[in-house]
Amino acid sequence: MTTQDDRYDIVVLGGGNAALCAAITAAEDGAKVLILEAAPKSYRGGNSRHTRNFRCMHEAPMSVLVESYGEEEYLADLLRVTGGRTDEGLARMVIRQSQECLPWMEAHGVRFQPSLSGTLSLARTNAFFMGGGKSLVNAYYRTAEALGVEVLYDAPVRHVALEGQRVTRVEYEHAGKLHTLRPRAVVVASGGFQANIDWLTEAWGPPARNFLIRGTPYNRGTVLKDLLDQGVTSVGDPTQCHAVAIDGRAPKYDGGIVTRLDCVPFSIVVNKNGERFYDEGEDVWPKRYAIWGRLVAAQPDQVGYAIIDSRALPLFMPSVFPPIEAATLDELARKMELPEEKLLATVAAFNAACGDTSSFHPTELDGVATTGLTPPKTNWARPIAEPPFYGYSLRTGVTFTYLGLKVDETARCSTETGRIENLWAAGETMAGSILGQGYLAGYGMTIGTVFGRIAGREAARHVR
Ligand SMILES: Cc1cc2nc3c(=O)[nH]c(=O)nc-3n(C[C@H](O)[C@H](O)[C@H](O)COP(=O)(O)OP(=O)(O)OC[C@H]3O[C@@H](n4cnc5c(N)ncnc54)[C@H](O)[C@@H]3O)c2cc1C
Repeated sequence: MTTQDDRYDIVVLGGGNAALCAAITAAEDGAKVLILEAAPKSYRGGNSRHTRNFRCMHEAPMSVLVESYGEEEYLADLLRVTGGRTDEGLARMVIRQSQECLPWMEAHGVRFQPSLSGTLSLARTNAFFMGGGKSLVNAYYRTAEALGVEVLYDAPVRHVALEGQRVTRVEYEHAGKLHTLRPRAVVVASGGFQANIDWLTEAWGPPARNFLIRGTPYNRGTVLKDLLDQGVTSVGDPTQCHAVAIDGRAPKYDGGIVTRLDCVPFSIVVNKNGERFYDEGEDVWPKRYAIWGRLVAAQPDQVGYAIIDSRALPLFMPSVFPPIEAATLDELARKMELPEEKLLATVAAFNAACGDTSSFHPTELDGVATTGLTPPKTNWARPIAEPPFYGYSLRTGVTFTYLGLKVDETARCSTETGRIENLWAAGETMAGSILGQGYLAGYGMTIGTVFGRIAGREAARHVR
């Protein structure tokens, strides 16, 4: 059965950061707004509820941010991680507008805190949310509802009908029925497609079946696919995504930040055959964090195993899962179901290639490297020799995909015929318009906040 409802000026698809920024901005401009959130209330907020911070430009100390972080430095940081595959015009716009975001966020209920130990390196560049992304999302829902925004949970959008250059209706499911809305404007903020394993498999092949999804199971790309199938202009490559190595015991979906493993630089990492495959000491951990998702994805069965000894254990932030512990390496191999002889041989070869370790320094590139070993370990190469020994299993954890809707500086979507009159996009679903590859910590929330506000403002202007 289908029901129809034409009460709303603007319908916002999704219930995370970008959606909420759009809905609040549009409601403040006087529009009647409905949010359709696929998740039930207890799971509202998508990937945004897992976040901790956003990256913010500032010319002088601002709120919890120390010193300054200017446009050129921010852009240089971004270009470095994306290897230049960045839309510089949109990137600069996001960077400049990020400095207005922080006071706007505070004015709409978000609280910030100085960065804690372990994240001090970000004290100048990234503002941390007090209570994490969940508090941010909750604050925005309170603000939106106070402004008269209506929210419908358990309401997955199935179809956004495009006729010519105009969206004419939105179809969503709720309480077992299909419903139709005819809003005057639509903002898509329903994330990437990373929770749709079939779609990931089309892009990556069968290995994708073994990937874990770090965030919400609701970002399945339903709206994205529907719009792309109708000729809405896309951007990005389906195989590009932010993927990291996480604890192999993490749940299939929604494990969040606590499943992250920071032990790699102080370990050797082997595959299921007990062989090393990459330089674990290439760089300090946050910089190399995002390459290990792809490295593990290329190994048999898409698994890896980080092996450390007792001296390494206090050097990194623990994850939520305790390591597997053993008094000897052969016992560890058995407990981790790794080939015993091969692991012992790999560790012996590594230990023999370690040299003088007197300048070992856990927080700097110390140059304590192996000699004559392939692949080498170029920093923090200390023999794995002090029992007990510990091991963690690793799997690929996908954060979000980059294939998305191409937007212009007003967040507007288009087809090859031109702009769509009443369709805007914000957040993960259009982040590929800026990021071609790679990722800069905290930039996802910056894109969502800047483009969410733009999409809300433009949609409200359209319906006025
Ligand atoms: C563990 C983790 C930690 C992260 N930490 C950070 C960080 O500290 N800083 C940072 O900048 N970024 C971080 N990110 C990335 C960040 O989460 C995203 O860039 C950002 O949250 C995207 O916001 P969004 O609103 O576009 O998407 P989301 O917050 O994911 O919101 C999408 C919404 O759409 C809904 N939805 C999906 N399909 C439909 C449908 N068919 N109909 C209706 N609703 C639908 C979902 O339920 C969800 O509410 C992290 C991600 C993860 C997974």
